[in-house]
Amino acid sequence: KEMDIGVAGLGVMGRNLALNIADKGFSLAVYNRHPDPVKEFAAAAGDKPVAACKTVEEFTRALKRPRRILMLVKAGVGVENTIAALKPHLEKGDILVDAGNEHFSVTERRERELSEAGIRYFGMGVSGGESGARHGPSMMPGGERAAYEELAPILTKIAAQHPDGPCVAYMGPGGAGHYVKMIHNGIEYGDMQLIAEAYDVLKNIGGLSNEELAETFSTWNQGELESYLVQITAHIFTVKDPEGQGQLLDAILDASSMKGTGTWTVQDAATLTAAIPTVASAVDARVLSSDKQGRVRISKVLPGPDPAKAAAVAQARGIDRKALVAAVRDALYASKLCSYAQGMNLLRLASIERKWDLDLPEIARIWQDGCIIRARLLSRIKAAFASDPQLPNLLLDPSLVEDLRGRQEGWRKVVSLAAEAGLPTLATSASLSYYDTIRRERLPANLIQAQRDFFGAHTYKRLDRDGDLHTEWSAGS
Ligand code: NDP
Repeated sequence: KEMDIGVAGLGVMGRNLALNIADKGFSLAVYNRHPDPVKEFAAAAGDKPVAACKTVEEFTRALKRPRRILMLVKAGVGVENTIAALKPHLEKGDILVDAGNEHFSVTERRERELSEAGIRYFGMGVSGGESGARHGPSMMPGGERAAYEELAPILTKIAAQHPDGPCVAYMGPGGAGHYVKMIHNGIEYGDMQLIAEAYDVLKNIGGLSNEELAETFSTWNQGELESYLVQITAHIFTVKDPEGQGQLLDAILDASSMKGTGTWTVQDAATLTAAIPTVASAVDARVLSSDKQGRVRISKVLPGPDPAKAAAVAQARGIDRKALVAAVRDALYASKLCSYAQGMNLLRLASIERKWDLDLPEIARIWQDGCIIRARLLSRIKAAFASDPQLPNLLLDPSLVEDLRGRQEGWRKVVSLAAEAGLPTLATSASLSYYDTIRRERLPANLIQAQRDFFGAHTYKRLDRDGDLHTEWSAGS
């Protein structure tokens, strides 16, 4: 019997996605560079129709033509090696999908190279981690549309199933799929940092215990902030330290690491001159956190408010705990809206620049379930871009304007309290400054223009008439 689809790479993601495919009634062939995961998979799959292949020859022979192969291997050299191993055994028309986190430009290069042999190459972002892969991820495939139609019967079955449809859709040609996944991850960085800052303020200014934090986040998860990340955060506060007294969270080193998709998002935003301050500050926050030893040293040198007096800043303004929790909730929600607005804007600019024709409502739709950033808010984002495809900024959707109106006070209060207490809020304050920048009629950019013209004769425009002007600001400077 020839198998419906092949999975190459049985790491965490490959193994779980392959089990998901088998559960949905498709026959599959599996292959892994080292043989042990293949044996283990065959045992786990039981009597499901699985060809457990030890060699690439066996693997490619086992598949229906044209072949459909999903690669779930380490990005970079792992994918390069896997393509090199498979390529001699593939034929014109075969579809090869990189379902890992690869940079979209690398995917586009590979697509070009493989198209010379008639191989249809796909870059597909998969989100949802281990459990998403097993029970239904959100998937963002990009490549040739006709090839997508051949993958769709399988992808739509294995994707997370939301009332609005399966969480997979054709994103666009070339690297569009990997690009959308990259932006998803950038937004994920922003969401995580905003949540971490909310935790910091609640804990250190509000004095909330882990138990109270768990309750607060659980309550938030019943309302407009409902999301996977808020839900898991609520749970994290409840987990006991298996090696000690208190909570595990308090025993974890406060230095965050990352694998690169957030940085790629910031790099591409810079290339396209798109402003994404929330995501950029989330990446910066991870970088700055990573040098724990340095921070411990500097904490003894650079002055700032006494950490023991953080709670006093709220008390001094008569803000009780209940009011603080409400303000932090509003700040988190409004900041999150700014972060999504920046991410969607970047998608739009990239789509224009690279002629991808990305469908923003459809992207918001497939992020509603299965992926790490799934959130109630996404249905509003979908509706906002569906009702006005030309919406210049998500924040201008009339219903979101109302949401932002109601959250002004709390948002500003949180940023100022944190500043007073000496708590950094890189992402929350970047979001608020983004908001104030885009909504402000007059900015101090007139001074920047004057300075540029002063030292570099870069010219400036006047408010009251057209034309590029230059002034001799001062002789000899
Ligand atoms: P890994 O990224 O660790 O990849 C494991 C697989 O890659 C194994 O099959 C391994 O083969 C193969 N591999 C590693 N190095 C090489 C190499 N140099 N040459 C050939 N093959 C190699 O596991 P994951 O399953 O976590 O991730 C797969 C992809 O999915 C990655 O791109 C990752 O970024 C992405 N991803 C992961 C998520 C997660 O939650 N883990 C979530 C979303 C995306 P062998 O067993 O022989 O070593």
